[in-house]
Amino acid sequence: MRYISTRGTAPVLTFEQAMLTGLARDGGLYLPESIPTLSKADIAAMAGQSYEDIAFTVMRPFIGDTFTDDQFKHLIAQAYAGFGHAARAPLVQLDSNHFLLELFHGPTLAFKDFAMQLIGQMFEAALTRSGDRVTIVGATSGDTGSAAMEAFRGLDAVDVFILYPHGRVSEVQRRQMTTPTEANVHALAVDGDFDDCQAMVKDMFNDFAFREEVSLAGVNSINWGRVLAQVVYYFSSAVSLGAPHREVSFTVPTGNFGDIFAGYIAQQMGLPIKDLIVATNRNDILHRTLETGSYTKEGVEPTISPSMDIQVSSNFERALFYAYDQDGATVASQMDDLKGGGFQISQGAYQMLKDTFKSGRCSEDETSAAIKTYLAKHGELLCPHTAVGTHVAEAHLGTTPMITLATAHPAKFPDAVNAASGVAAPLPPRMADLYDRPERVTRTANNLADIQSIIKERIAT
Ligand SMILES: *Cc1c(COP(=O)(O)O)cnc(C)c1O
Repeated sequence: MRYISTRGTAPVLTFEQAMLTGLARDGGLYLPESIPTLSKADIAAMAGQSYEDIAFTVMRPFIGDTFTDDQFKHLIAQAYAGFGHAARAPLVQLDSNHFLLELFHGPTLAFKDFAMQLIGQMFEAALTRSGDRVTIVGATSGDTGSAAMEAFRGLDAVDVFILYPHGRVSEVQRRQMTTPTEANVHALAVDGDFDDCQAMVKDMFNDFAFREEVSLAGVNSINWGRVLAQVVYYFSSAVSLGAPHREVSFTVPTGNFGDIFAGYIAQQMGLPIKDLIVATNRNDILHRTLETGSYTKEGVEPTISPSMDIQVSSNFERALFYAYDQDGATVASQMDDLKGGGFQISQGAYQMLKDTFKSGRCSEDETSAAIKTYLAKHGELLCPHTAVGTHVAEAHLGTTPMITLATAHPAKFPDAVNAASGVAAPLPPRMADLYDRPERVTRTANNLADIQSIIKERIAT
């Protein structure tokens, strides 16, 4: 399986190279040259299988000869061994046709663990084999950073630097990033917003001298390995509700478009998904784009669902690439126009996107109301991101079973959850001492050169 860039001019890579690289050299994102499909019988055979077995079947066609079957099975087993639920991604019924897919039983209580734990295992195996060292630099609105630090802390061949917007992540998210004691993980609190952090990470990848000097690697949601790991739970949950014999729909709380794009891949692989619904908070660029065909940046406003406070949605470029029939030059020119504030999607591409994705938006008041209502009506305490999802899903409930992705545990966002419901969700016992551990963090200006010198200094010692 070979990987190509959404902008058409970067080198074609293997799975291993695409995973270790993250962003393509032409500024694009890697995608498989073609999407493998699973037959109806392959999907039917998943009924009753473990999450790990389903993960192997779904991901195996994408990884080429990067790992042998036995190695890959071992890495998958290691990745999910630390999860706090035997099903890994259990499905909870809310209503006759509405289900919650709980993706928060991993070590940092958000769905990012599904991909990051596996990426950690795959990086370690690949780097041990080659004897190379890499520097991972990532931007986070909260959950990616904690999941990355948890997955990579203590590994020999990797240093991890996480940029997060100072004061704009929840206390639990911050502490998960600032309390690991291992010397190879570094939290950088940037005086800026998430888009500033994400832009600086992109600039570091486009600074080829720096990129070579520190052996830069990326694990942001643009990393194909992460998208791939997320495809698995679309299959496991749909099969448990009767796929491939019955269609299901998904509503996905969305920021960077990684998780919902994984759903699109699942659909292209042959999983019978009726609707894929993008749920945004008031930072609604994706919803506006799907309504109007115009992708236009506006300022980011902080919300109680901070992991979705994003205005430039990196993985949307992958959807655009398919919408434009894999025309990298057109994608590259649209992405160039984005620097000036936005672009208009051509009629044909817009039609494809509208046929593929539905969308809805949830205000702050609606988010709080959903947290309150779902506790009273269904006995489920939702995190604010999940509440955005259930609110949007309600407008789309019908005869097809709807699965809303529960992207984080409510204890990760205790203030918002408590304010909305009057109930504070406790942290699971395995992390109950989080508030007592000492913190270690470097506050930095919103300045690329400063951050690059911090990174160079730290990896030199
Ligand atoms: C990252 C995140 C999201 C958004 O996921 P994307 O893949 O960026 O669309 C939603 N909810 C939570 C809790 C997250 O951590």
